[in-house]
Amino acid sequence: MKPMPVIDPGTQPYWDALKDNRLTLKHCKACNTPHFYPRELCPLCYSDDLDWIDAAGGGVIYSYTVAHRAAGPAFAEDVPYTIAIIELDEGPRLMSRIVNPDAGLRIGVRVQVQFEAAAEGLVLPVFEIVTG
Ligand code: ZN
Repeated sequence: MKPMPVIDPGTQPYWDALKDNRLTLKHCKACNTPHFYPRELCPLCYSDDLDWIDAAGGGVIYSYTVAHRAAGPAFAEDVPYTIAIIELDEGPRLMSRIVNPDAGLRIGVRVQVQFEAAAEGLVLPVFEIVTG
């Protein structure tokens, strides 16, 4: 069984939004900047005046690696898999998996979020290379 994320009151809205096929970011109202992962204080100005915004879900691959050796027994059936740092159009970067690496995997290529039911009650954001 794969490890599950630790969901606390501060990140519950993020996980709940994923179940509605929405990728959300914490947004600082003091300096008007979104960030990821969700935090209680803005990592840029330390304000606690934050709200949630919906990300459009588009971005580019900032970096990636292809795992040929599983990160543990729970991932053995998944190799090879592609892990990437996605730079969202809103600015923040997050780590995720590329679901169609054969479609032209390279740094800078456009990707779009997809929502994957990973386990009971858990939806994860994964990314698809935009083609055509
Ligand atoms: Zn701020």
